[in-house]
Amino acid sequence: MTNSAIGIMGGTFDPVHYGHLVTAESVRAHYGLQEVVFVPTGMPPHKSPQLVSEAEHRYLMTVLATATNPAFSVSRSEIDRPGPSFTADTVREVRRSRGRQTEVMFITGADAVRQLATWSRLDEIFQYCEVVAASRPGYPFAEFEQEIAQLPRAVRQRIHFLEVPALAISSSDIRHRVAEGMPIRYLVPESVKSYIDKMGLYRVARTSVRRGDLGS
Ligand code: ATP
Ligand code: MG
Repeated sequence: MTNSAIGIMGGTFDPVHYGHLVTAESVRAHYGLQEVVFVPTGMPPHKSPQLVSEAEHRYLMTVLATATNPAFSVSRSEIDRPGPSFTADTVREVRRSRGRQTEVMFITGADAVRQLATWSRLDEIFQYCEVVAASRPGYPFAEFEQEIAQLPRAVRQRIHFLEVPALAISSSDIRHRVAEGMPIRYLVPESVKSYIDKMGLYRVARTSVRRGDLGS
C-alpha cells in the first residue's frame, strides 16, 4: 500500500456502534491508511426497505459517531444514488473523488466477507481494491477460511484477515435493546445515543430482523 491508500467502510449503520468504529480505526492504523470513508448503504439489496431506517438518520448518526476522528469521513454516495447500492459503484465513485492513483482497502467484518461471492461485479471490485476482513465475535476464522477457499485464487490473494479488538456488538442487538428499554450506553457513542433518544428511533420492534446480513 502506498501513502495514498484509503479505507472504505461500508455498512447499513442502523445504528453505527463501537464495533464499527474500533474496526475502522484498527484497519486504518495497521495499514497506515490516510483516511477511512464510511459509506452508509442506500437501499441494501439484501435488506427489505421496511426493515431499514431512513438513510438520512443512518447518515447523520454516522457523521456524529465519526466527528471526533480526523481520519474518518462519511460519504453520501450510496444514499444519494437511487436504487440498490453496489459496492463496485461506490469504489469507483470514491476513487473518482480522491484521484485514480488512490488505492482502496474495502473493510468488512468476517461475517460480511463471507457473502463476498454473491457481490455483483466482483472482478471490478478486485481490480482496484484489497479487502480486509476484520475479526468479529461469533464468526470464527476457520469458517471464514473455508468460504474464501471457494473464491478464485486471484481474488483470494487480495483478501486479508486482521484481528481487531473483539466487541460483541451488533446493530440488530442495539435496536432490540432500545425496543425492550434496555441500555445502549457504552455500545454506541453518546452522541448517537442522544440522536436515537431525540428522534425516537427503534422504539417499535421490527417484525423480523435478518441478523448479520450486509453486502452487495
Ligand atoms: P446488523 O445487525 O443490522 O446486520 P451490524 O452490526 O452487522 O448490523 P452492519 O452495518 O451490518 O452492522 O455492518 C457494517 C460492517 O461492519 C460489516 O462489514 C460488518 O461485518 C462490520 N461489523 C459490524 N459489527 C462489527 C463488530 N462488532 N466487529 C467487527 N466488525 C463488525
Ligand atoms: Mg450486519
